[in-house]
Amino acid sequence: MGLFDWIVGAAGRDAGIQLLPQVIELPAVDSRWTVAWEPGADARLIRSAQQQRLTLTHGRALDAIAALQHWLKAEGRRHLPDWLALVAADTGHRYTTVSVRLQRSRWGSCSSSGRISLNAKLLMLPPDAVRYVLVHELAHTVHMNHSRAFWSEVARHQPDWREQVRVVKARAPALPAWVHAHAKPPANLR
Ligand SMILES: [Zn+2]
Repeated sequence: MGLFDWIVGAAGRDAGIQLLPQVIELPAVDSRWTVAWEPGADARLIRSAQQQRLTLTHGRALDAIAALQHWLKAEGRRHLPDWLALVAADTGHRYTTVSVRLQRSRWGSCSSSGRISLNAKLLMLPPDAVRYVLVHELAHTVHMNHSRAFWSEVARHQPDWREQVRVVKARAPALPAWVHAHAKPPANLR
């Protein structure tokens, strides 16, 4: 049973309301957003960058969660492609395109044609761990596997990679539940 089933299965109550955060920490980019909730007919999100504040109106909790996921992807697109370009300039790797999504389980992927896909959840990791994930995907542009040659390529550009693997694994289960909820974006956000 997925989280969504659990939410709608909660006997008519809008149980998703328990998932709504007051604060969202994005350690990767050293930011901390406060979330103000206002009841309303549909989900609308106002982002105030200066105050690092999100104001969300919502009717149903699931719509609000979808709006937050939409915002997290937008934040990911604001930061991760430039970050990847910087790291690639540093390591000398070449990729063709980068996209930012909100995948359920993978932090990133790299296709055989060098298309890199990054998870917006990376923003919830410490910066060194994000760099490790970027180096990992870039190393796949050279080795499309997890061979010893691959790991030595990673180690060349991120010597503390073992420590970063531990950090990523430890953080994954601690991510807030709203990030994973199956929520379909409301029409006004699609
Ligand atoms: Zn890999």
